[in-house]
Amino acid sequence: MAFELPSLPYAFNSLEPHIDARTMEIHHGKHHQAYVTNLNNAIAGTDAEKLSIEDICKNISKYPMAVRNNGGGHYNHSLFWTIMKAGGGGNPSGPLADAINSAFGNIDEFKTKFATAGATRFGSGWAWLVVGADKKLAIGSSPNQDNPLMDISDLKGTPVLGLDVWEHAYYLNYQNRRPDYMNAWWNVVNWDEVAKRFTAAMK
Ligand code: MN
Repeated sequence: MAFELPSLPYAFNSLEPHIDARTMEIHHGKHHQAYVTNLNNAIAGTDAEKLSIEDICKNISKYPMAVRNNGGGHYNHSLFWTIMKAGGGGNPSGPLADAINSAFGNIDEFKTKFATAGATRFGSGWAWLVVGADKKLAIGSSPNQDNPLMDISDLKGTPVLGLDVWEHAYYLNYQNRRPDYMNAWWNVVNWDEVAKRFTAAMK
């Protein structure tokens, strides 16, 4: 079974004014599609065709760089689309809020720490909130299309929130102003979906 580009769960313009429709259209239809196509080409005829993208990521050291870059790209963007929504933002509640407060002090401290992880990632990469093997929340970042599921990653855990800080995610609207994009992005975060991922990761 070849991997497929998941459809966006909302229209391209749903995240405006924070993320513009043209950026979403190119990001989903061109960038993510390219990761899917290149991943399928890279694993064609190999046993990896039978695996989930999560299982490929977990053993990524066994694969060529094309699988790492494009498999990571597919996993990361598939997560990214779902943790945003029209009319998102606000703050988390329930057990996720409790865990954030306990790990980082309060929601503002958490957002600052997360933004710092994204802002200090040199070049292209992702900022992450993960549930670690110890069932505690941690913040970090990864280069390129690496992610915390990967056995080669410095930051390890189950991603519950991920922010794409590649220039292709924000350049049309924000040019070089990555911090402005990251600030605006909180307005589209789908905390219900993040909470769902948190609950699953805590099991
Ligand atoms: Mn991207």
